[in-house]
Amino acid sequence: AKESGHNYFQFYVASVDQEIRERKQLEKDLSVALHNHQFHLVYQPQVNLETHRIIGAEALIRWEHPEKGLIPPDEFIPVSEMNGSIVEIGQWVLDQACWQAARWASNGMPLRIAVNLSAVQLRQDTIVDDILDTLKRHHIPAGRLELEVTETSFMTNLEEAVDKLKRLHKAGISIAVDDFGTGYSSLTYLKRMPVQHLKIDKQFIRDLLVNEEDTRIANTIIDLGKSLNLTVVAEGVETAEQEYYLAQRGCKLAQGYFFSKPLKPHEFEIFVAGFHSK
Ligand code: C2E
Ligand code: CA
Ligand code: CA
Ligand code: CA
Repeated sequence: AKESGHNYFQFYVASVDQEIRERKQLEKDLSVALHNHQFHLVYQPQVNLETHRIIGAEALIRWEHPEKGLIPPDEFIPVSEMNGSIVEIGQWVLDQACWQAARWASNGMPLRIAVNLSAVQLRQDTIVDDILDTLKRHHIPAGRLELEVTETSFMTNLEEAVDKLKRLHKAGISIAVDDFGTGYSSLTYLKRMPVQHLKIDKQFIRDLLVNEEDTRIANTIIDLGKSLNLTVVAEGVETAEQEYYLAQRGCKLAQGYFFSKPLKPHEFEIFVAGFHSK
C-alpha cells in the first residue's frame, strides 16, 4: 500500500507538472497568435421569429493554431482573461467586427453585430472610449453594435459597470445579458443595468420540450423579458420544434444550428441572400 501510494504521488505530480507545462505553452502560443494573424471571426445569424428576417449576427472568435489546428474559444478565452491578453484580443475582435459591419452595410446589408465583451475588458478604464472610437473609425452608427456581457461583469464592481454600460447605452449601443440564468443572476442587476436583451443560454434550450425544468426556466426568462420590456434571444436552437415553441411562446429572436452554424463572412453573405429569398 505504501508503494502504490508513492507511485500515485509521483503520477500525480507528473500529470500536474504536465498540465502546467501545457498551460504555459498555450499562453506562449497565445501571446503571438494575434501578431501572427491566427485569429478570425465567424458570424452566426440572429433571426427574428416573427418576421423570419435575419436582423444581425453574433461575432465569434476562432483560433487557428499552426500545429494543433482549431482551438475552441472555451479553451483559450478563460486563459486570456486570466493573463490579461483578452484586452488586446477583445479590441481586435471589436475592430474586426466593426470593419465587417461597415463592409456589409456598404454592400446593402446593414446588419447589427453582436460582440462578446469580457468582464476583464469592461473593467478597463478606457473601455468606453475605446469602443466609441472604434465605431467612429469604421463609421458605424452605435445602434448597429450590440455588446454581450455576462453576469460576472456586474459582480466585481457594480457601480463602475453600471456607469460604463450606461455611457455605452446612451451613445446608442445595445447591451445583452449573455448566458442568462447560468451565473449569479439577480433581479437587482436587471433593474439597475441598462440592458435591453436577455440571452437564454443554450443549456436551457437543448432539452426544451423534453426536460420539464428546462422548459419552465425558458418560459420564466421569456416572461421576465416581457414584464421588464427586454427582448429575449434564445441561443442554441437546433430543431424546428424548439423554434416553433419559442416563437409561439413569444421569444422574439433566436440563433442556433437550426438556422445556421457560425459562418465565415463570404458564407454568411450567401446564407443571408438565400434565407431572405425563401
Ligand atoms: P457564447 O457567447 O454563449 O456563444 C454561444 C456558443 O454556442 C458559441 O460557441 C456558438 O458557436 C455555439 N452555438 C451556436 N449555436 C449552437 C447550437 O445550435 N448548438 C450548440 N450546441 N452550440 C451552438 P463558440 O463559438 O465555441 O464560443 C464559446 C464561447 O466562447 C462563447 O459562448 C463566448 O463565451 C466565448 N467567446 C467566443 N468568441 C468570443 C469573443 O470574441 N470574445 C469573448 N470575450 N468571448 C468569446
Ligand atoms: Ca455570446
Ligand atoms: Ca451561452
Ligand atoms: Ca459565454
